[in-house]
Amino acid sequence: MKRFETRAVHAGERRATGATDGEPNGAAAGGSDGNFYPISTPVHLSTTFAHARIEQTDRVLGGEEPGYSYARYGNPTVTAFEEAVAALEGEGHAFAFASGMAAMHAALMAAEVGSGATVLAAEQLYGSTATLLVQIFGAGGVETRFVDACDLEAVEKKVEELKPRAVVVETISNPLLRVADIPRIAEITKAAGSTLVVDATFGTPYLQRPLELGADIVVHSATKYLSGHGDLTAGIVITGAPYDTALDQIRKLVGGVMAPFEAWLALRGLKTLPLRMERQCENARLLATRLAAHPKIEKVYYPAEKDHPDNEVARRVLAGAGGLVSFELAIEEAEEGRAAAFRFLNALDLCVKAPSLGDIYTLAIHPATASHRELSPSRRKKLGVKESLIRISLGIEHPEDIAGDIEQALERV
Ligand code: PLP
Repeated sequence: MKRFETRAVHAGERRATGATDGEPNGAAAGGSDGNFYPISTPVHLSTTFAHARIEQTDRVLGGEEPGYSYARYGNPTVTAFEEAVAALEGEGHAFAFASGMAAMHAALMAAEVGSGATVLAAEQLYGSTATLLVQIFGAGGVETRFVDACDLEAVEKKVEELKPRAVVVETISNPLLRVADIPRIAEITKAAGSTLVVDATFGTPYLQRPLELGADIVVHSATKYLSGHGDLTAGIVITGAPYDTALDQIRKLVGGVMAPFEAWLALRGLKTLPLRMERQCENARLLATRLAAHPKIEKVYYPAEKDHPDNEVARRVLAGAGGLVSFELAIEEAEEGRAAAFRFLNALDLCVKAPSLGDIYTLAIHPATASHRELSPSRRKKLGVKESLIRISLGIEHPEDIAGDIEQALERV
């Protein structure tokens, strides 16, 4: 198998797709003389795909022959993106969706999370995933219980007690960047017969490939690092038997498919994933080191820092500490953390004050009013999400310019 960087560039490419010999336009996949073809996968903006003979359409629709017939069932540009992501995850099949949430919904359905089932979820989970479980799956008779995914004893105890249908965790959590011990959790879930679903959005296959570590289903919000340019919304599920038939079916029938233009953009973005991640992780490491000694900072959260609670786990299960850094501002006791955080964010000049993460641009958010807005103040407190907390998603700019902007904003807090 070719190396990760090479697969990122070449995997999935459909360079000569289009009409084939014997079909209308014949050998002219590349023009009337048939002597050229595109070097990048074209964006196939077509609702339906026709064949020269109806018998072939019949075989494709019947699943006897691979191919394309109707866009909701499959699109060559989307397949190219799926194959590329599966190649980066190292194994399994990939199924692309219109968003990370649609992908998570499908993954849970494929894991047979239905009436009467119990799900054990990390309490550090992305808020919308937790709400999806509690509200949408809850209305369908699913009970969701939460556990600190970084407390292995607690995970083991809960899994033994509840025998959950599925366990849902994230590689690296938001915003305190806690790192789950996926290999150990996979052993626990396997022993109990539960399906381990890992949201690997923050880690990407560049840092960790959960299927190789024993996870059953991997989910990404491809809106983030995989596409990487802040210009699309998409999600993807990577898995193997016994879940892939169900996923294919769910995608066809629920219909939250990825659009071809998004797939084309995402495939293009994916080619630079290793380059971007290398730079983003290095930018994060440099920023975390620099801010750790800053008088206006109370505490820095970065898994490579010695005082991070999961430093040992991170070194063992990740190929790098990730591209995000969070920190609490140092404030006077009487001062309001939120006001200080807003002053800091408003003083930023280069870093973009916007939700999301994993883009080429450095992004800064205030988790208490953004990603964790829907939670009660007491729940935020329990999770350690203080009002003075800021999360930075490092982009690919020069590290001195990023640090310089953050330092000048800190002076103005
Ligand atoms: N999972 C994680 C960890 C996320 O951070 C997000 C979005 O921020 C999602 C899933 C949902 O992804 P999307 O916004 O693409 O639906």
